Amino acid sequence: MNPIWAVLLVAVAFVVVLRIKRRRRLPQIPVYARRIEGFQVVASLAPEMSSACLFDHGVQYGKGFRRKEGPELPHDERCRCASLPFSYTSNEVFNGALRNFAGVHNEVLGFTQEAADDLVAQLKKVESVQLPVDIEAYLAAVQVEESGEAMHAFLSARYTYLTEQKPAERQARLEAKMAAEH
Ligand SMILES: [Zn+2]
Repeated sequence: MNPIWAVLLVAVAFVVVLRIKRRRRLPQIPVYARRIEGFQVVASLAPEMSSACLFDHGVQYGKGFRRKEGPELPHDERCRCASLPFSYTSNEVFNGALRNFAGVHNEVLGFTQEAADDLVAQLKKVESVQLPVDIEAYLAAVQVEESGEAMHAFLSARYTYLTEQKPAERQARLEAKMAAEH
């Protein structure tokens, strides 16, 4: 073979190998650069917040999540929920960034952020089952750390709001309780 042809052949093979290598390398984004992006619904704590606001608080959604779309906001005329965007590296997510992204919006006088978040968790638990038959039962069911006057006032107002929302259910349960007692 002509030595010039041999050199050319080697050169062409070299270029082809380089191109294949580069193409393979391109789509691989390093792990540390991957970001998790999405939104979280953050409710505003108030005795008159609807069940929709309460139960949607904390919902995370977006491209990389099982839930792609958030709820339609506002939930109702009293709703003060917001959808807050977040963007974390996978390392930050691994270290709990999503769990600690945003607590409930807290404007209740006398509540720390911690007490407000604890209360929301308790309300979700208690209000996912039947409404307690009276205010005493409701107060006993909501197991919050905080037990000051502000908390008592909040829970009393909350119970009043709930009974106004579900008067028929409450009436039926009151009658059942009285029948059981007599
Ligand atoms: Zn809402």
